[in-house]
Amino acid sequence: MKSLGSIRRAFAPWNDPGAKPYIHFDRVTKKFGDFTAVNDLSLAIYEREFFALLGASGCGKSTLLRMLAGFEEPTSGRIMLDGQDLAGIPPYRRPVNMMFQSYALFPHMSVEKNIAFGLKQEGMPKADVEKRVTEMLKLVKLEPFAKRKPHQLSGGQRQRVALARSVAKRPKVLLLDEPLGALDKKLREETQFELMDLQQELGLTFVVVTHDQEEAMTMADRIAIMDKGQVMQVATPAEVYEAPASRFVAGFVGNVNMFEGKVAERSGNSARITGGTGAEITVENAGEAVKDTEVSFAIRPEKIRISSKRPADAINALQGEVYDIAYLGDMTVYHVRLDDGQMVRAATMNATRVADDPLTWDDRAWISFRPDAGVVLTR
Ligand code: ATP
Repeated sequence: MKSLGSIRRAFAPWNDPGAKPYIHFDRVTKKFGDFTAVNDLSLAIYEREFFALLGASGCGKSTLLRMLAGFEEPTSGRIMLDGQDLAGIPPYRRPVNMMFQSYALFPHMSVEKNIAFGLKQEGMPKADVEKRVTEMLKLVKLEPFAKRKPHQLSGGQRQRVALARSVAKRPKVLLLDEPLGALDKKLREETQFELMDLQQELGLTFVVVTHDQEEAMTMADRIAIMDKGQVMQVATPAEVYEAPASRFVAGFVGNVNMFEGKVAERSGNSARITGGTGAEITVENAGEAVKDTEVSFAIRPEKIRISSKRPADAINALQGEVYDIAYLGDMTVYHVRLDDGQMVRAATMNATRVADDPLTWDDRAWISFRPDAGVVLTR
């Protein structure tokens, strides 16, 4: 059997110019009175994709899901699903189902009755309902709990009942609004992998709303980073992290150090950037940076090396003082105040129990990094 990883690595329809999007938000705007919750937004999602909408509270993610489900109508623009315009189609006639954060289980019904409810309402024959419920219980590994009521289950089990109920009708698209929000950290992590397995097994398209970036990075094929009703970038988790398109995205996803400066020199793909106080950085992949313009150089803490002496081979090395140290067990994060006053975070994996080059508070220290370790941002 092929591993999940190898299947997912090969899955990239967005790179295929011939592939047609399955869900297409086409210049969609949603206004509530004077307030614009979704602003002229276009987005393409592919069949069988695990797609995440990531953004701060109030950025319009849930509104986008609700329009896809049919609980809200766009003020302008179109939403297409499998080539069909969804305008005017009521929620129950869309091949879409939504799982809410609250799970909305019926408290007085057993697990199996909760799962069966929607199927019965649809008029499915009794024998078929029973067969489908058994199948669903098996899928989410809740067979021993079929007769229990929701209050007799753990948070994780309730989440699985809600999931079984949402996929029981075999929708083509499942919308999940903060699906793991009610679970504690450890259970969330386990459940993320279960969700990914389930999505693969059923061959569904998942669109998940979350404000938890680790969750989006773990589960999604691609992530849309949203801000103020607009999409700032759509890319794979690795691209979003390693090649953010703007200062906003770089700052939103993960920790980042930002150096502000001017492009003093450009040659081929590389550039020399000078900061206000004369510190110099040489970078590769200078992208769209133009000579004599202001840019930001964004670099992740784990790509910065910290040492007591200037590494002999370092192209970029800046000196400062250890201001703070956060020991996190697996890694240590050093906060270094550079001589020009800028604070920089450098993260070091604790591969050994005792550090080779121990640095402590107030020590003089060098930070250094490779020219290709960060990205130059012009937006
Ligand atoms: P959260 O993570 O907090 O749920 P979100 O990104 O999902 O945030 P939305 O629920 O989509 O945000 O809301 C976007 C904006 O639209 C918010 O400012 C919200 O107050 C506003 N909004 C949403 N629904 C309505 C409504 N029915 N009437 C008026 N304003 C609304």
